[in-house]
Amino acid sequence: MGFSRTRSDHASNTYPPELTMPSTPTHRVFNFSAGPAVLPEAVLEEAQRDLLALPGVGMSIMEVSHRSAAFDDVLERAESDLRALTGLGDDHHVLFLQGGASQQFAMVPMNLLPADGVADYVVTGSWAKKASVEAAKFGRVNVCATTEPEAFSRVPSADELHPTRGAAYVHVTSNNTIVGTQWPTWPEVGDSPLVVDASSDLLCRPVDANRCGVIYAGAQKNLGPAGLTLVVIRKDLAERGPESIPTTLRYSVAAKHGSRYNTPPVFAIYLFGLVMHWLRQSGGLVEMEARNRRKAGLLYDAIDRTGFYRGTAHPGSRSLMNVTFRLPTEELERQFVVEANAAGLSGLKGHRSVGGQRASIYNAFPEAGVAALVDFMDHFERTHG
Ligand SMILES: *Cc1c(COP(=O)(O)O)cnc(C)c1O
Repeated sequence: MGFSRTRSDHASNTYPPELTMPSTPTHRVFNFSAGPAVLPEAVLEEAQRDLLALPGVGMSIMEVSHRSAAFDDVLERAESDLRALTGLGDDHHVLFLQGGASQQFAMVPMNLLPADGVADYVVTGSWAKKASVEAAKFGRVNVCATTEPEAFSRVPSADELHPTRGAAYVHVTSNNTIVGTQWPTWPEVGDSPLVVDASSDLLCRPVDANRCGVIYAGAQKNLGPAGLTLVVIRKDLAERGPESIPTTLRYSVAAKHGSRYNTPPVFAIYLFGLVMHWLRQSGGLVEMEARNRRKAGLLYDAIDRTGFYRGTAHPGSRSLMNVTFRLPTEELERQFVVEANAAGLSGLKGHRSVGGQRASIYNAFPEAGVAALVDFMDHFERTHG
């Protein structure tokens, strides 16, 4: 079997798609998926252009040693671009890890929660809840605030937080991917280090990273492809993990070895680096916030225009990244997804745990896609309302 196929093979709708040579440009749909999610087209094109051989290296990024000068360069540039974007200073490490945000649910308490300590968790959605349940395997957890009785439809206000004095840390989830809520600004929690699961909104707007103890994010939503977990951690906190925990789960080991105690996800870090570069070229995080506000604003306006669509998040907690809404009936919700797919609008089904619709519109999601969805919603309401 060769890789050469005929055009008619290529046109068939089988999966995996037939391999073709030469490749023909494929139509890209508008991808509203919550994650893995849309990546900047310019990034994908650059990766495609250099996939066979990185300029000046002569090998694919997937073929180079993680200890080569070529990869040193990729890693250094990814980190320095992230620092430039966020204004992150020398008090924090940038770590490139694996295991997803879910592994951080365990690594954070393993490293930072002493036997006689307590960790505060602000429970604002199912990811936050999972984080708190995982932490309880390692020590004492105090849920210092929760909006679960309100179906997580908002984040708490500052006076609802009640952090424990002397807590080892306070854990918050900056954007609740499933229910579509987001902290308008990251909360003040007193003297304890703030630990932020920012998996679904990191770099959607300027971030006050320097005041955080830990920020972590699975890359596959707003930062890059799956397989990479970004961790930003204050240097003194990174040293707290006891020697008794597994080597690869200790922040201090990753820090000491520059994220290369063992083989890191080389390709994912490379692509993350391209995304950082794209963000800088696009005007940085102030510009991203302006774009994201514009995109989310259009969509929330469409939801609020009549009573047909109903936003599920409280207006003061609405997410810029995951816009969640319901239709009058579940039957109409199913129909909405079917017709949207046919119109080239993919991934609008809400999370299976909450139902309804969810439009994830991360940094890389184009404004034209939001306009297309707004048009579609208008059309759908006129034909089914
Ligand atoms: C997706 C998500 C996670 C889980 O991420 P994995 O990388 O799949 O482990 C955790 N927290 C939040 C807020 C998420 O959106």
